[in-house]
Amino acid sequence: SPLPDYLTEVLSVCSKGAGATSDHIPELKNADPDRFAISLVTAEGVTYSVGDDETEFSIQSISKPFVYGLALEEQGFEKVLDRIGVEPSGEAFNEISLQRDTGRPLNPMINAGALTAHALVCDNATAESRVEAIRSLLSSMAGRELEVDDAIAASELNASFRNVAIANLLRNYQSFPDDPDDVVAGYVGQCSVKVNTVDLAMMAATLAGGGVQPRTGERIFSRSVVRQVLSVMATCGMYDAAGDWLSTVGIPAKSGISGGIIGVLPGQLGIAVYSPRLDEHGTSVRGVEAFERLSHDMNLHLMEAP
Ligand code: GLN
Repeated sequence: SPLPDYLTEVLSVCSKGAGATSDHIPELKNADPDRFAISLVTAEGVTYSVGDDETEFSIQSISKPFVYGLALEEQGFEKVLDRIGVEPSGEAFNEISLQRDTGRPLNPMINAGALTAHALVCDNATAESRVEAIRSLLSSMAGRELEVDDAIAASELNASFRNVAIANLLRNYQSFPDDPDDVVAGYVGQCSVKVNTVDLAMMAATLAGGGVQPRTGERIFSRSVVRQVLSVMATCGMYDAAGDWLSTVGIPAKSGISGGIIGVLPGQLGIAVYSPRLDEHGTSVRGVEAFERLSHDMNLHLMEAP
């Protein structure tokens, strides 16, 4: 059929070689840099997938919108919005940026906001129980049981000086009552859940379907939570490249430093791409190129009049 043929063509025309695997987490350096996969899942659950779509990698920052959604479901909008803003920061994902005076992180997509959202999951619980709640949530959206990659988690935890610093600042402003080291340990576990592009496209399709998993029919998020999550993905999901991305690709999205990117077309489609070589923003080089091509060729830009 024409769509898989087209996707295979996208795999072959995207430029190889530019960028490098992340040196932010030692273990990620070892990823095979030439892997490349694209998966699409419609809001009805029809899947199209090409390339290395069985290759597993850690979810990293792509977990952030889902954990923000979980915090909103569990704690309600008022409490979460009081703790985490919704303004784009225009800064890198790991910038030590908190609002002056209040110490409130600008948005839930940068690490400061993501650490706060993580700490809001299962009040007063242990890092272990938060990771399990998040692993279970991500599994429900993927439609299969996902696992935490302990080697990736250990590797990141040993190199978490910057996130520990951010967590300590947050703790100073009483963003959360927990022990900062415990919050970072849980957050690192959250980032280490192993996925492939089909899993990620299912998760994206769950958001596209207003919070209902397209295969199992399970309602994972309320419609209002999905609207909030997609709004912050559109404005903040690509960090300091968010404006460039929204104008060229025009799809709410989230990237991760292991090389994945998800995109969501409300009511229509979830998209996931994986290729581990990264640009200066910590975003997959070929992932961006693939999204630009898909958006252009399939007319997916949300600001384009039909
Ligand atoms: N675990 C990584 C970190 O917090 C995730 C960063 C990312 O994927 N952009 O530094």
